[in-house]
Amino acid sequence: MSDLIERWVRPEIRGLSAYQVPAAAGLIKLDAMENPYPWPDALRREWLDVLCDLPVNRYPDPRGAALQQALREAMGVPPGQGLLLGNGSDELIQMLALTVAAPGRAILSVEPGFVMYRMIGLYAGLDYVGVPLREPGFTLDLPAVLAALEQTQPALVFIAYPNNPTGNLFDVAAIERIIAAAPGLVVIDEAYAPFTDASFLSRLGEWPNLLVMRTLSKMGLAGLRLGYLVGPPALLDEIDKTRLPYNINVLTQASVTFALHHRALFDHQSRLIREERAVLYRALAAIDGVHPYPSDANFILLRLPVGRASRVFTALKGAGILVKNLDGGHRQLADCLRVTVGQPEENRAFVAALIAALERL
Ligand code: PMP
Repeated sequence: MSDLIERWVRPEIRGLSAYQVPAAAGLIKLDAMENPYPWPDALRREWLDVLCDLPVNRYPDPRGAALQQALREAMGVPPGQGLLLGNGSDELIQMLALTVAAPGRAILSVEPGFVMYRMIGLYAGLDYVGVPLREPGFTLDLPAVLAALEQTQPALVFIAYPNNPTGNLFDVAAIERIIAAAPGLVVIDEAYAPFTDASFLSRLGEWPNLLVMRTLSKMGLAGLRLGYLVGPPALLDEIDKTRLPYNINVLTQASVTFALHHRALFDHQSRLIREERAVLYRALAAIDGVHPYPSDANFILLRLPVGRASRVFTALKGAGILVKNLDGGHRQLADCLRVTVGQPEENRAFVAALIAALERL
């Protein structure tokens, strides 16, 4: 077996670890930027009626026409722009990468940023260029990005807006300069759109190379796996050629269409999360030695006193709370944890456990 693996598995794949998701059973789950609010019972029952009628012996609608229509109406997709659906926005990143991949070509993004740009680029055989963000505050280093664009001529640029895991929005004028200077496609990844008023959706059409990517995961439908890409129709037609047939299954198409007809519920939940984010930020800022970074997303990055993050992470887990430990990963995230905004009582439990852990360790 090891001979087979050694001979045939690409060295860059052998060198990876598979995407790890820690077990969360029985824990307060504040690690994955999910919406913490369940659906009301009446809505669940109505949804079940929809599911009961689905013809699962047939393949799904190949293009998800009804879902596309519901998305256009509910999410304010500008008329004249194309729309492409993915099994989560991760799949859209993969389609984008496969569309442009060729030896010597590159993906560019900023660091620390969303790790899947680099990973999926690697699967597709693309080089990866990560331009460091500037501290304090993880702002865009515009001269460095412009120089990297010039030097590496990337086929694809990803900018998460707001950024994960730092939570901040970047300067709009700097992003405009990057879009204008990029030789290839620029994807503004608006995964955290429900938690900010800022967006490039209405700017589509101003540049021929601009695409906006979104997901329904953070809005409250992470389990259904649906992302969408908006941009020039001719460009999306090309990217669509890399899509696997029937990538959005029957259950997801019907369930998301149903959910979008109840959009007001998700808007309400997103507003609650935004309010709770402010409460949680203030609570964290009041703890001695803890530095929370301002966030426009549904999570907060926090820096702890030097050398404590991993022990605090373990203590939190012992207290029944799962967050994301970023210490030991990216150099600029030493001593950092990332916490997703949960329900008020979950956030209070997290803050209490954090204070207790810091006092003890
Ligand atoms: N983009 C960003 C910036 C993210 O943080 C995430 C999820 N963590 C995604 C894309 C992927 O989202 P999904 O595949 O659930 O749509």
